[in-house]
Amino acid sequence: MEKNKFFAWPQSILIGLAALGGTLSLSWIMPIKPSLFELGSTNAVDASPEKLLAKPQTQKQIEYFKLAMLATWQKEARGKGLYHTVPKTFFGKTINSAKLSSEHKVIALTFDDGPWPGYTAQILDILKKNQVKGTFFVVGQMLQTYPHLGKRIVDEGHTIANHTWHHWYHYFNKQAAAFEIDRTSNLIYETTGVKTTLFRPPGGKLHNGLAAYARSKNYTVVMWSADSIDYKRQSPSTLIDRVMGQSTPGGIVLMHDGGGNRSNTVAALPTMIKKYQEQGYRFVTIPELLELKEKHQQVASTKK
Ligand SMILES: [Zn+2]
Repeated sequence: MEKNKFFAWPQSILIGLAALGGTLSLSWIMPIKPSLFELGSTNAVDASPEKLLAKPQTQKQIEYFKLAMLATWQKEARGKGLYHTVPKTFFGKTINSAKLSSEHKVIALTFDDGPWPGYTAQILDILKKNQVKGTFFVVGQMLQTYPHLGKRIVDEGHTIANHTWHHWYHYFNKQAAAFEIDRTSNLIYETTGVKTTLFRPPGGKLHNGLAAYARSKNYTVVMWSADSIDYKRQSPSTLIDRVMGQSTPGGIVLMHDGGGNRSNTVAALPTMIKKYQEQGYRFVTIPELLELKEKHQQVASTKK
C-alpha cells in the first residue's frame, strides 16, 4: 500500500503551524491557499516545538489550522476534479441509486469499460458542450494504453473510478481480486492524481469475489438503476426510451464508452441529455449523488 501523501504532516510544517496558530483566528485562516504549506520551512519560529506542543491551547489551534487548511485544499482539489469525498456512510457499501424525492431531481450518468479510442473523446466532447459531469468506471489495462483519455476525464471535472484491470467475470480469490482492484486504483492515481474509492464490478457481478474484496477495502460498490443495454447496439432512440423509462430522481444510468462499437451510445447521448433537462433533471457525479443521499437521509432522520 502506498503512503497517503495528502494527510502526512511533517514536523517542520507543524512547527510553522504552531507559530501561526498563536496569532491567527479560524475566520482569518479559511481563505488561505495551499501554497502556504511552504510556510513550514520559514525561519519565523522562535519557540521549540516541544514548548509549543506542550500547551493544550496551542495544540487545539494547530488542529483547527490543520482542518481549515485541509478543507481549503479539498475544495480546490475538488474544483479541479482531483478529490472526491464519499461520505463515510457509504464506505464498504453497495448502492444502486440514491432514491431521492422529486425535489432533488438529479441523475448520475456513468460510462464503463473505457478509455476507448474514439468513443471516450466523443462522449467527453458532448458532456463538455452540455456542461454535464459524469462518472467513468475505467478498465486498468485500457487506462494504461490510453492515459491521455484518463487525464482528460479528470481535467474536465468528471469522476474517474475503478472497473478492474482486465474486466474478467470469473471467480477471484482474495489475491487475484486484490491484483485486479489495487493495480487499477494505483494506475488511476499515478495517471490522474485521483484516489478513487468507487468500484463497479464487471458485468455487475456481485458474488465472484471482486465486490467482496472492494467492500473489505472500504470501496463503495456502485451498481445502477437504469440500464441502457447499449452493448446490444440497438438504435439510439431505443436506448433513450429505455433509459428515460427507468429514470427516477437519484438514479444511476449505466452506459458504455468502451468495450466495442459505441457509436449508438454517442448518437443517443445529446438527445438523452436534452430530454433529462426538459424534465427538470440536473446531472451529478457519483460522489455528488452520495453526498446528496447522505444529506437527504440526515434531513429525513431529524424529521422523525
Ligand atoms: Zn464493464
